[in-house]
Amino acid sequence: MAVPKRKTSQSKRNMRRSHDRVTVSGMSECSECGEMARPHYACQSCGHYKGREVIAKDEA
Ligand SMILES: [Zn+2]
Repeated sequence: MAVPKRKTSQSKRNMRRSHDRVTVSGMSECSECGEMARPHYACQSCGHYKGREVIAKDEA
């Protein structure tokens, strides 16, 4: 069986993994608070969706 001659260095391993990141595409701005939120999801910071509050939050 073919086996690597040398252990992959931290540098080479990290270079290979530089493309492995997970990106969240299609972020849009919340109309209520201006935070970035996923479309078709309630805003995680203010709990609003389509102009009304759908998640009860303490706003004291
Ligand atoms: Zn919001």
